[in-house]
Amino acid sequence: MDNMDTRDQVVALAGSLFDRGYSVGSAGNISVRIPGGYLMTPTNSSLGRLDPARLSVLDEDFVHTAGDPPSKEIPMHKAVYEARPDTGALVHLHSTHVTALSCLWVPGEPLIPPLTPYFVMRVGADVPVVPYFRPGSADVVDEIRDAARRGPAVILAHHGSLVAGSSLVAAVNAAEELEVTAQLALLLRGSQPRTLDAEQVAELL
Ligand SMILES: [Zn+2]
Repeated sequence: MDNMDTRDQVVALAGSLFDRGYSVGSAGNISVRIPGGYLMTPTNSSLGRLDPARLSVLDEDFVHTAGDPPSKEIPMHKAVYEARPDTGALVHLHSTHVTALSCLWVPGEPLIPPLTPYFVMRVGADVPVVPYFRPGSADVVDEIRDAARRGPAVILAHHGSLVAGSSLVAAVNAAEELEVTAQLALLLRGSQPRTLDAEQVAELL
């Protein structure tokens, strides 16, 4: 079977995310660029119980060519790869703290302040938020494409996160950093935390 190392890496990292509660049930999905197209987690699959041989194979136009049928959230992935051509992998999670924080979003205001240098370096200083759309809506795709041009991570209001990386490891690391920073932001909510200032952020970027 082709791309066995990449398949095994998807199963291992997805299983690790699942085991640590970053995804539950059949929520969340992952895609990785491979020669000639993409590997993607199948529709209705659980990140904790993937079979490397059954991952969906897509061609460069995101047409399903082998394996199980891909996640129905494939248009979101396509939009980010289009917006960020250097993307090697994408991780989409319905993780608890990002989703909770997304329900507190005030349009026009930044959702996560620059609290730690690791967050700024891995995810960026200003994570864009895409407003709520019903699952499967075609309208969300243009919004995601625009947001992805601003940075590697996008928060989907009332839904979760969508995080791009140059590799699968980089995308997973950034998705974890985003979830943990959302948790920090919730812990600090209602207090007045010092954030990194503009000069400190510029130095990191
Ligand atoms: Zn989703």
